[in-house]
Amino acid sequence: MQEKDSRKEKFLGIYIHVPFCAHKCAFCGFFKQPPRRQDLDVYVETLIKEIKSQYIDRKVDTIYFGGGTPSILSCEHIRRIGENLPTNSSLSEWSVECSPTSVTSETMGAFRDIGVTRVTIGVQSFDKNTLKTIGRRQTLKQVLAAYDTIRSCGFKNIGIDLIFSVPGQSLKSWEADLKMAMSLSPEHISTYNLTFEGNSELDKQRRSGKIFPLHGDIEAEFFIKTGEILAQDGYNRYEVSNFSKPGFESLHNIHTWEMQEWIGYGPSASSQINGERFTNVHSLELWREGILNGKYKRCDFQKLSEETLIQDSLIFGLRMTRGVNFQKLRDIFKGFDKARYDTFFNFLVDNKLAVRNGNNFHLTPNGLLVADAISVEILTL
Ligand code: SF4
Repeated sequence: MQEKDSRKEKFLGIYIHVPFCAHKCAFCGFFKQPPRRQDLDVYVETLIKEIKSQYIDRKVDTIYFGGGTPSILSCEHIRRIGENLPTNSSLSEWSVECSPTSVTSETMGAFRDIGVTRVTIGVQSFDKNTLKTIGRRQTLKQVLAAYDTIRSCGFKNIGIDLIFSVPGQSLKSWEADLKMAMSLSPEHISTYNLTFEGNSELDKQRRSGKIFPLHGDIEAEFFIKTGEILAQDGYNRYEVSNFSKPGFESLHNIHTWEMQEWIGYGPSASSQINGERFTNVHSLELWREGILNGKYKRCDFQKLSEETLIQDSLIFGLRMTRGVNFQKLRDIFKGFDKARYDTFFNFLVDNKLAVRNGNNFHLTPNGLLVADAISVEILTL
């Protein structure tokens, strides 16, 4: 994995949230709106105003277009955003998320022309029953065509996102999903454990007893099987949910997991910058109103103490297979006191959940399996 630490150079990441989807997936609790042409026009022009008024004169190393469905934008929208983003020679990765049903060679070409280097496709599953449960309408033919289109537009870094632990999904059908994804040879595969987001259709069905979440032991089997199968084709787990061919780890995600700084534009976009963490208001109308009258509407505002950043660096660092380096943490955070964590970290080592090698400390596969519980414990220390 690339060990680049851009924190010293104070590189900035940029996140652009595109809050539109053609329709809502059953598992999704994110903010989104069905798009109308005028909504997209207004969104793009407001986004440009926000980028210009919140311009930060720093070198940018990663840009990420997420959503929602960024591939729903027209070529003209993509060009307008591209020409207004502060890109420079320090940029090492520019990603865009897309859904299989909205990929066209025109929009992929437009993304490529503004400088996008990496495309991830939210496939989620190739299995008809799983797709039905999670409310995805794509066909296999559409997914394969989308993948080919992205490749033929010249992208050398493609990611496929898959989801597991879906009610009714068997281990066998999950294995088939993984193998189908591998047969396409993407550079990156993300495997997300289904969560029942409040406001999602699946959560409603769970609460009314129509569907039942899979048992925790089966989830563990999915997790273990995933690592075994993807390793057969050279996909390396570099984070609990993320696998890549060597050199194709998501730099933007690593940037955020390392607690470096980023600025988010668009409704619902989160930022972590100048010792503060906040999220833009979730409503498209309120977001726009705030930008037009210069009173930005933000929520979940948090002043970041050094203690919070240390805890978050440990929590997110330990979710990566390379783990954390105590010396690096001491260099960045003067107040980092390893002794405070020693008892717990020794417990993890004694129980074969973690390995210490000098200043390096990382979780074992069994430790990664309980990474969420380890995070909760770190917050109490
Ligand atoms: S999962 Fe992705 S594509 Fe589906 S509704 Fe949510 S944001 Fe949109």
